[in-house]
Amino acid sequence: MRAVDTVVIGAGWSGLAAAVELAASGREVTVLESAPQAGGRARSVILGEHTLDNGQHILLGAYEHVLSLLRTLEVAEADVLLRLPLDLTMRAPERRGLSLSTLYLPAPLHLLAGLLTARGAGVLETLCALPGIRRMLRRSENDDITVGALLQRCRQPEHLVRGLWAPLCLAALNTPVEEASAQLFCRVLGQAFTGHRRNSDLLIPRVDMDRVLAEPARRYLEARGGRLLTGRRVTGLEPMDGVLRVRMRDLTLDARHVVLATPPAVSAALCTPLAGMRTVVRGLEHLGQEPICTVYLQYPPEVHLPMPMVGVLDLNTQWIFDRRHSGHPGIMAVVISGPGPHMELDNDALARQVTAELGLLYPDWPPPGDHWVVREKRATFRAAAGCEEHRPAMHTPVPGLLLAGDHVRNGLPATLEGAVMNGVQCARAIARTTDA
Ligand SMILES: Cc1cc2nc3c(=O)[nH]c(=O)nc-3n(C[C@H](O)[C@H](O)[C@H](O)COP(=O)(O)OP(=O)(O)OC[C@H]3O[C@@H](n4cnc5c(N)ncnc54)[C@H](O)[C@@H]3O)c2cc1C
Repeated sequence: MRAVDTVVIGAGWSGLAAAVELAASGREVTVLESAPQAGGRARSVILGEHTLDNGQHILLGAYEHVLSLLRTLEVAEADVLLRLPLDLTMRAPERRGLSLSTLYLPAPLHLLAGLLTARGAGVLETLCALPGIRRMLRRSENDDITVGALLQRCRQPEHLVRGLWAPLCLAALNTPVEEASAQLFCRVLGQAFTGHRRNSDLLIPRVDMDRVLAEPARRYLEARGGRLLTGRRVTGLEPMDGVLRVRMRDLTLDARHVVLATPPAVSAALCTPLAGMRTVVRGLEHLGQEPICTVYLQYPPEVHLPMPMVGVLDLNTQWIFDRRHSGHPGIMAVVISGPGPHMELDNDALARQVTAELGLLYPDWPPPGDHWVVREKRATFRAAAGCEEHRPAMHTPVPGLLLAGDHVRNGLPATLEGAVMNGVQCARAIARTTDA
């Protein structure tokens, strides 16, 4: 059997990024995806008459690898993403929320000025919190502690912890402050709030997620002789005579390089039989998983939020996104990250509860006409303190085998940026080899 150059297993954003980068450097690439569509955990789904997403995604101006990938694909940022300066409005039913707008100042002054001018925060208390915030932005210690412990060490007042840091931590790491890794949290803060002020911009998809990446990536690959095969579940990997044999139910491919860009549990299962991979497998099995629930509520088209997204405190609802900005006027996407009692409710009960919560915040809204609930039980790895030591490295002891996916160690939590960055790194490592 003739060995192909590179097989990428998994067509999530990480696998697609690897494949596009490889095709761009002239390598022959075949992508094998078990699902009927590409996109992985950032894919479009049909709900009722609408093409929505398996979960609301937002990106940051700091997602440089994602933005560079879009440029490679000749996807104009403004066509697929709505760029907004960071403007956080946190609402609570029975108390004052918090509202923070970044000002047109260089980073990190825009954040500090935003905090000082935040509505709902005492100026004096916030002033006392600023040295701690600077410490968080510049934190470089190697030891990991929980975000809760870090906020205490950095003397953050209760109103900022409850009104800003705790919801931001859950949104960014999908892990509650009591468990979340300070190292990863500070890296996200540093990424967004140091460097260029545009790094903290919010980028909200204007189209469904397939149109942001999966479809342009498929077109790009096919135009360069690459293949993206869906409905192809890889069942085994076997080193054989200097190549890796990739087994599927009714097909076998030999490849000189394999990028394994599947979720942690699948990567662990495929690596288990391979010699030298015990530590990698143990690490992968040690990474826990956290869910994200998205409840879509269909209101009449004129119902809208005052801004594209609003944060919510003290309720099950954590964030509300107005999908009019993604072409679905009247549809609200309610996001609930991490574990919690909402996971015990069935879909209808959860939709009723979320509807009642939105009714408390927006009493003028009529009841929604329809709803859809999407539960991703393994949305991200648990970004708990100390998790970095369990994340695998890109290079493995198996010749020709590289690991990609958002869970590969890179100092970032599970994000689109981390997934793309890891895919690109794999492709560059392969491009450096001389056996093309
Ligand atoms: C609801 C939700 C909301 C999120 N919100 C955000 C957000 O706002 N911002 C952000 O940055 N990140 C967000 N994330 C995280 C982000 O979506 C992920 O980090 C990213 O999509 C992971 O990409 P990946 O390629 O590493 O993995 P995946 O997307 O999981 O890709 C792995 C692929 O491998 C395929 N596969 C599995 N087994 C096999 C097999 N045996 N053979 C072949 N293929 C296989 C899978 O079908 C999948 O397509 C969110 C995630 C979810 C679920």
